[in-house]
Amino acid sequence: ESPEGQKMQKFRRSLPSYKERDALLTAISQNQVVVVSGETGCGKTTQIPQYILESEIEASRGAVCSIICTQPRRISAMAVSERVAAERGGKLGESVGYKVRLEGTKGRDTRLLFCTTGILLRRLLVDRNLKGVTHVFVDEIHERGMNEDFLLIVLKDLLPRRPELRLVLMSATLNAELFSSYFGGAPIVHIPGFTYPVRSHYLEDVLEITGYVLTPYNQVDDYGQDKMWKTQKQGVRKRKSQIASIVVDALEAADFKDYSSKTKESLSCWNPDSIGFNLIENVLCYICREERPGAILVFMTGWDDINALKEQLQAHPLLGDPSNVLLLACHGSMASSEQRLIFDKPENGVRKIVLATNMAETSITIDDVVFVVDCGKAKETSYDALNNTPCLLPSWISKAAAQQRRGRAGRVQPGKCYHLYPRCVYDAFADFQLPELLRTPLQSLCLQIKSLKLGSISEFLSRAIQSPELLSVQNAVEYLKIIGALDEKENLTVLGRHLSMLPVEPKLGKMLILGAIFNCLDPIVTIVAGLSVRDPFLMPFDKKDGGFHFGDGPIHREFSSQTCATSSTCVVWNALFPALLEEWWRLGPELAESAKSQFSARDYSDHLTLVRAYEGWKGAEKEQNGYDYCWKNFLSLQTLKAIDSLRNQFLSLLRDADLVDYKFGTSNVNMWSQDEHLIRAVICAGLYPGVSSVMNKEKSVALKTMEDGQNSVNAREQKIPHPWLVFNEKMKVKSVFLRDSTAVSDSVLLLFGGEISHGSFDGHLKMLGGYLEFFMKPT
Ligand code: ADP
Ligand code: MG
Repeated sequence: ESPEGQKMQKFRRSLPSYKERDALLTAISQNQVVVVSGETGCGKTTQIPQYILESEIEASRGAVCSIICTQPRRISAMAVSERVAAERGGKLGESVGYKVRLEGTKGRDTRLLFCTTGILLRRLLVDRNLKGVTHVFVDEIHERGMNEDFLLIVLKDLLPRRPELRLVLMSATLNAELFSSYFGGAPIVHIPGFTYPVRSHYLEDVLEITGYVLTPYNQVDDYGQDKMWKTQKQGVRKRKSQIASIVVDALEAADFKDYSSKTKESLSCWNPDSIGFNLIENVLCYICREERPGAILVFMTGWDDINALKEQLQAHPLLGDPSNVLLLACHGSMASSEQRLIFDKPENGVRKIVLATNMAETSITIDDVVFVVDCGKAKETSYDALNNTPCLLPSWISKAAAQQRRGRAGRVQPGKCYHLYPRCVYDAFADFQLPELLRTPLQSLCLQIKSLKLGSISEFLSRAIQSPELLSVQNAVEYLKIIGALDEKENLTVLGRHLSMLPVEPKLGKMLILGAIFNCLDPIVTIVAGLSVRDPFLMPFDKKDGGFHFGDGPIHREFSSQTCATSSTCVVWNALFPALLEEWWRLGPELAESAKSQFSARDYSDHLTLVRAYEGWKGAEKEQNGYDYCWKNFLSLQTLKAIDSLRNQFLSLLRDADLVDYKFGTSNVNMWSQDEHLIRAVICAGLYPGVSSVMNKEKSVALKTMEDGQNSVNAREQKIPHPWLVFNEKMKVKSVFLRDSTAVSDSVLLLFGGEISHGSFDGHLKMLGGYLEFFMKPT
């Protein structure tokens, strides 16, 4: 074996899970269900499935064993499988493989497969007994993700039918008893882990130590952008926004009597709505200057604020200097090359700073972290069942999550954790986060329950660890009926069956199917791919100090990959073309707007605008100047490439489902020669019942600018010549916005959407000459 391989084996034997190897193997062989709990980083994910694989090989069952280990996130399924393949000295796709939505490497000899939870659920659709599978690991169950909770109900039903199947549940925190009792008292194996003590500093201590003074003015960042904070500090207390509400009372009760008056004054100005970019910058500087070596892990809410903070830090003389600091981001949409850098040790004297989402809380372990900075928030999807609107808002984390974040600092030596909120606020946090099943729309889930033939939706969900509200279930079922995926008696229709096979939301799946039927798939696939990736339009927006930055970020990342792989873009570009960049930033927003409206061609549709931009880029790519094209038109090359590859994947999926005319793709269809009204109608049919009247009060809502700087083309139009806007998403981010809308006429809405007030969708479908009738039959 190579020295590298030997080192790896030695490392594996040093992990806490190794000591429990025999106990684990015995428990798993003697019990159908075992719950494993242990400190993050102790070796659950990477080691335990390998122990099984190795013991099966020893017992000469290597050729017949088949182990599946689910991960809640695609990025961790990929990272973990790569790591495990490396530990086994092979290539990914040999004995170890992975599979995530539309992607994966799995070979004939793959015995250990890491996949997302969604992939296993999809497999259950066609293989309800998991034939041939010997072991299922469900990882990170403490997170209480919707798919995991759902999978557990399905597996619980499956176990009696497959007595030899082994189920291992893995969890990081201490509520292992909850899962054990759900499975009738399954044994728990706890892996004792050793971590060094971590000292906690709350906001009041941070202010004392660093001497930083909070004012209403220095806490204005992405989330506190409205000028309100600039007017008066009393505002801080008065305003009861979503995120502030739990802290107001806590702050009122606290007196901070042991703290200096300067700190007390500062605390009274604290803006709980702000992530506090300046405060974070200050704390990072303090650690870099005053503390011993060791990596810093900063917990933020999402890739947008990570990118914004990264840019701010890159402009800082100390933190932005690559000879002092290696600044990295860690979030779900980072490139895999970037992902590997996170685990690497930086050169001597260089301090690694990783800006991460809550992904780094449990699923990814960075070993050399000594300092943690915790902003106390995470972006959380929530669902307002009463108003039937999904929301995506940064909200306070739970006590369990805060402890988990703190623990990340004690992996290699005693560490420190800086919580950027007062102790009294921590005390007001909930113990655990609400399970996702209780806070998200349930449409896709309900569709899956039906296609897995699991009986009545509400009866099935009542068997979950914690069942969702009845109202959310009713809303979801109602939606599925309106779009024709379920019939009146809650039976799956043919359309519903097709929708459940497509790995996209029902509305996007419906668009694809209708695009295929009405023979305008080319633009529709582009739209669906665009809606599944993200908006490729980059909108530079006004930042507090008059500079501009990009809401989307990738354009900067793209620059760095084009110029020099790791160093900070701004620095490179500032050095090369300071005047140009300055000018460009000054004019940026205006230029971006006019670039986008040129694509919109005044047809009042964000969806068609996207298609034009994509097609323009494809044309430019053929002439080798796709990059220039993006640069000129404020488009993200990375996003367009992602859309392009997703397009191909959708097309092959539709071909497999026999929904695509085989001629498609061979003849070069030019979309604009196709009937544009038809395309608009298919968009409408997919997005229905997401309709808003242009005259409606929501008009003003649609016309506002999204907070992240992304505008609908319809936001700029003075007068929209159609009465309706069909929209992709109504989002509550402070107030309600329509994101991505297309204007449609009365007749289109009637024929393809359904009637707003009298809503008889079936009736209108019949008017389509029976085209769709076939799809409405119960299965
Ligand atoms: P757990 O699932 O218990 O949180 P893991 O099995 O993910 O732990 O990780 C065990 C150890 O393996 C980690 O502490 C880390 O040191 C190491 N490790 C895991 N993934 C990687 C990776 N991609 N690169 C380097 N080291 C890794
Ligand atoms: Mg793990």
